[in-house]
Amino acid sequence: MITQTQINAVADLLKGKKKIAILTHLSPDGDAMGSSLGLKNWLQDCPALGGPDVRVIVPNCYPDFLAWLPAAQESIVYALDKEAAEQVAREADLLFCLDFNEPKRIGDAEALFPLFTCPKVLVDHHLNPDHAMVDVIISYPEAPAASYLVLELINALNTLSTFHAQQSSEPARKELSTFHAQRSSEPARKELSTFNFQLSTRTATCLYCGLMTDTGNFAFNSNNPVLYEMIAELLRAGINKDRIFDAVFNQYSANRMELMGYCLFRKMKIYKNYHTALITLSASELRRFNYQKGDSEGFVNLPLQISDVYYSVFMREDADRIKISFRSQGERPVNIFAHEFFNGGGHMNAAGGESFNTLDTAVKTFEAHFRDFFKKE
Ligand code: 5GP
Ligand code: MN
Repeated sequence: MITQTQINAVADLLKGKKKIAILTHLSPDGDAMGSSLGLKNWLQDCPALGGPDVRVIVPNCYPDFLAWLPAAQESIVYALDKEAAEQVAREADLLFCLDFNEPKRIGDAEALFPLFTCPKVLVDHHLNPDHAMVDVIISYPEAPAASYLVLELINALNTLSTFHAQQSSEPARKELSTFHAQRSSEPARKELSTFNFQLSTRTATCLYCGLMTDTGNFAFNSNNPVLYEMIAELLRAGINKDRIFDAVFNQYSANRMELMGYCLFRKMKIYKNYHTALITLSASELRRFNYQKGDSEGFVNLPLQISDVYYSVFMREDADRIKISFRSQGERPVNIFAHEFFNGGGHMNAAGGESFNTLDTAVKTFEAHFRDFFKKE
């Protein structure tokens, strides 16, 4: 996916950079953290770059089930330490924006943008990136995860001889092929050897986490065979995929499981003719189950397990807003609806939005309009 022009631009920008910052989206998920930490670890380890100082800034706290990711705890949480984040922003000589497409997606940390006077690179897989936000845009909505694009970027940079030549005295040669270019011109048997990741286990672990979480453990957006060729390389780099799964998906509290049971038994409303399910949770219901941040992660996906439910909506009453998640299957876009009525957006099959009205009002807004958008089939 990534073009040679984009690779060359990033390689140029990386030249001589000593202080690199990485920013990712609000309420960072497995791909936000995985892509950011994977890139950080790689940049720090890459012999051609001479060990730059690389800092990851997250707008707010990452969930506990991602705290084990290599170098996660070195991240600066903007909401907890604005001054540290501002200092990194002022001093950075290069910024990577990962897994988000517009400044709004980093919440209050948007205030950091004017402080970053350095060049900025976006690596993202959401629709409609804000071109004014950065200098180099690597945006491929068809990519299953930002971590996939980071892997492509690493592979292509490693393959670029001019990149390695930065630190050595050898004259730069013009050998610019990406693994995609190689793949198409070489016999199938040789395909795997065309990857040039040279990843440490810690970098590979972070990037696998991003691939795994953004595809629901390879349940969706995951038909691209290259994805599995990449994973084979990550395994060769020493990752333990079974342990990564366990660390991310088997760390829930009993309260969360009970809340999930309550949602399914008491709170799931199905609009049968419209193949749509809605689950809502009020603040008082959340208190009853001693809700902790992240406890409702994934609830929105559950109704899609019902054979004739193709759209799922989940609304949760937070302190200051109603957080809304949309999911769908197949060619049924929910991002347009999220954008139109809930100030949101996202991917065709996974979108989000918010409402600053009451939960009841958000439900009324939803019920007033979804029939015009969600297909009656
Ligand atoms: P989730 O439902 O997991 O919070 O979000 C699913 C996807 O929807 C995210 O990957 C993100 O692309 C998008 N998304 C979630 N919330 C918002 C929002 O408030 N605004 C926009 N533009 N996209 C969102
Ligand atoms: Mn992502």
